[in-house]
Amino acid sequence: MLKGKTALVTGSTSGIGLGIAKALAAQGANIVLNGFGDVDGPRAEVAALGVAVDYHGADMSQPADIADMMSYAASRFGRVDILVNNAGIQHVARIENFAPERWDAIIAINLSSAFHATRLALRPMQAAGWGRIINVASIHGLVASSEKAAYVAAKHGVVGLTKVTALENATTGITCNAICPGWVLTPLVQKQVDAKAAALGISNEQATKLLLGEKEPSMQFTTAEELGALAVFFCSPAGNNVRGVAWNMDGGWTAQ
Ligand code: NAD
Repeated sequence: MLKGKTALVTGSTSGIGLGIAKALAAQGANIVLNGFGDVDGPRAEVAALGVAVDYHGADMSQPADIADMMSYAASRFGRVDILVNNAGIQHVARIENFAPERWDAIIAINLSSAFHATRLALRPMQAAGWGRIINVASIHGLVASSEKAAYVAAKHGVVGLTKVTALENATTGITCNAICPGWVLTPLVQKQVDAKAAALGISNEQATKLLLGEKEPSMQFTTAEELGALAVFFCSPAGNNVRGVAWNMDGGWTAQ
């Protein structure tokens, strides 16, 4: 379905970003990966799906790096047809204890990076008359949890940015939508499980049950594969008039 298209997925060396990159590659899209840590493993996993894969190591907190990544992707594949703004980090502390530099980093990586990449992706998409921008927000783009001030503020911002991007391009073939996962067992969440286990002196399994039980009625993690399938839907012809939604996959978290 996406043969001949190019998808750039930020923060795709791990977790949800890698899952979305693989789902888009399985539909034939060429992929530009981004993120830190091991690159060869993710690159091989995507290449095994029979598409062209490239990588740019932009630090998503740096607007100049983002500009470099966008021009690199265009020079390599002609155009970015699908932009997935996914890179993100977390920091957990009450506001009075929240280090200002952690606030700045989360706003830069989780929110401003989506603005910068979108800003640079739009003109070529407008010239082509087709594009998909998918913002990986979070259930924390819709509701709050204590001790996540920067993350909740950034993700609410991402949902707002999604709506404006969708509106400004509503008469075109460019759509913009947000995905709002509940808990997904990636390294970002494993750190929170480990912290809970250590703080309460309980096992990893007990900490996982506690974490899910606090918020997610299904008592199940959403998977990167399920999120990838939603991204594929947004890119499909059936998604042509789905514009500006914040679509939760949250095991009932926000139904309560
Ligand atoms: P993860 O830690 O597995 O992956 C994060 C990715 O972002 C990695 O590839 C990492 O290298 C990259 N990254 C981090 N800082 C970066 C930077 N400065 N520049 C470039 N890349 C950077 O985490 P994940 O759980 O897969 O999270 C992906 C997205 O999903 C995030 O935006 C997160 O907020 C969101 N999300 C996660 C969950 C969850 O439960 N895991 C739930 C809702 C939303």
